[in-house]
Amino acid sequence: MGVKPVRFVIVGGGPAGHQAATSAARLGAEVTLVERDVVGGAAHLWDCIPSKAMIASGGAMAFVHRSSGMGLGSLRAELDLDGIKRRIAEIEHRLHHSFADLLDDQGVRTIAGTGRLAGPHQVVVDTAGGEEELDAEAILVCTGSRPRIPEWCTPDGDRVLTTRQAYPPPVLPEHMVVIGSGVTGVEFVHMFASFGSRVSLIVSRQQVLPNKDPEVAAALEDDFLRRGVNLLKGARAVGIDRHGDAVTVRCDDGRVARGSHALLAIGVIPNSEGLGLETAGVEVDRGGYVPVNQHCQSNVAHVYAAGDLSGKLPLSSVAAMQGRKIADHVMGQHSRQHRHLDYDKAAQAIFTEPEIAEVGVAEAEAFATGRKIRVTKVPFSANAKALINDDARGFVKIVSPRYRHRAGRLDRGPPRRRADRGDRPGGDLQPPGVRPVREPVGAPHPVRIDLRRRRVATRSRPGRRRRSRCGRPPPAPRSRCPPARRRPGSPSSWPPARTRPGRPRSGRPPPPSPPRLSPAWAR
Ligand SMILES: Cc1cc2nc3c(=O)[nH]c(=O)nc-3n(C[C@H](O)[C@H](O)[C@H](O)COP(=O)(O)OP(=O)(O)OC[C@H]3O[C@@H](n4cnc5c(N)ncnc54)[C@H](O)[C@@H]3O)c2cc1C
Repeated sequence: MGVKPVRFVIVGGGPAGHQAATSAARLGAEVTLVERDVVGGAAHLWDCIPSKAMIASGGAMAFVHRSSGMGLGSLRAELDLDGIKRRIAEIEHRLHHSFADLLDDQGVRTIAGTGRLAGPHQVVVDTAGGEEELDAEAILVCTGSRPRIPEWCTPDGDRVLTTRQAYPPPVLPEHMVVIGSGVTGVEFVHMFASFGSRVSLIVSRQQVLPNKDPEVAAALEDDFLRRGVNLLKGARAVGIDRHGDAVTVRCDDGRVARGSHALLAIGVIPNSEGLGLETAGVEVDRGGYVPVNQHCQSNVAHVYAAGDLSGKLPLSSVAAMQGRKIADHVMGQHSRQHRHLDYDKAAQAIFTEPEIAEVGVAEAEAFATGRKIRVTKVPFSANAKALINDDARGFVKIVSPRYRHRAGRLDRGPPRRRADRGDRPGGDLQPPGVRPVREPVGAPHPVRIDLRRRRVATRSRPGRRRRSRCGRPPPAPRSRCPPARRRPGSPSSWPPARTRPGRPRSGRPPPPSPPRLSPAWAR
């Protein structure tokens, strides 16, 4: 007799749900997916995708407006709001069907309806044709989130909007007042400013993107100010009044922002009510999220939670990865320590101009936890590709450990010998002759580049060759190229100048030996 497949019921068909469904089905589970609105996910298809589609249209407009800088005659782009609506509807339709087809192909049973737990191993689905009860060995709840609406405001979908009502809005706002300066808020500011609307942004703290690197936030604020965005910093919205076609947003410090539209971008709340979690004994925290462990299991081992509902990073990519891991775990394939999800390593992007992307530990966080770090910054103004695209705003900032662990030893300082090969942090970003300055943490300068000093490609110096640990002599050095000559008219430092062997780079004493112990980050 064959082994009975694991019955796996998933409530919510967003990135977490459909990834878990397809992965588990591939591994042999009998999967049922319950979705009430749109396969692919409400937040995914109604927020994330339309927002990015509109931002792409705004980016194209901004690019056209910069055309004179590209050596083109002045071009004009006009917004076609109906065209944008059609474009978004087509993208949503196509994605929804491709997700649904994929699930179908993999033998996943999809039920259109609203699911809830009726016990530790039962899910009840309210469908158009009545109630259906499903038994399951494993259950995943991933019902996502919805826009948070404060008690001082009632969105009307016309002039006072939530994020879901603004992709796209009924008419192009003449003057949009955006409330909230987190990731969603700043993406809206960028989008409407690109379309030519006037924009005011209510920033409750002293910087936009309060949880991000202050220098990154400052670069974005500069861009906003250059585009005429009115920033109301340190103001918390406490009320919205509508008079005809005008809206007034009142702030706690007495300031007001007047516009034609107001948009709430003050976060999301999880969809955990009415899910029957209590009937299965699943704990929910005060914010409505389901706390999970490294396998995304709730306090009830066979009930998993993922995506926005799990209270981890609210990103579509993270939700999808959680879904895949859960499928592995349900099928007994994911138990090793090294395969646990590490949310610190999730890459994140903010679709503004300049675009912002980050991965890993932020400078302030590393500093706060007492890590020894090195900060390397390279401005795009020194990058050929950025100049070619006529957009040299922004910079790359790399926060790396002070000591690097390579090939069984600890190296101090930057791996300079790799600079020419472009495989060091920032190496491929630097044009010849530009050398990023490593600044102590918390240094006040935004970016300093020493253009006078030429980058020096060093080689190991005579007398400093070490014996390898096993006692054998180290391999002979590779043959040296003859020093390249400078051609008249060529940039001053390409090919890179070389130092004479044995000559110290500066009068400074040699750096101290690195510590022998592996630091925590290298374990
Ligand atoms: C404006 C905005 C822009 C964003 N942009 C990005 C971005 O650029 N990149 C990115 O990675 N992330 C982005 N996100 C975040 C991303 O959309 C979410 O993190 C992601 O969609 C979460 O996936 P999920 O599977 O948890 O939930 P969802 O995508 O919300 O899916 C949950 C699904 O569950 C269904 N459901 C709910 N309750 C029930 C029930 N009782 N029964 C049956 N079905 C139910 C819902 O209909 C929904 O389809 C953005 C979010 C917002 C608000």
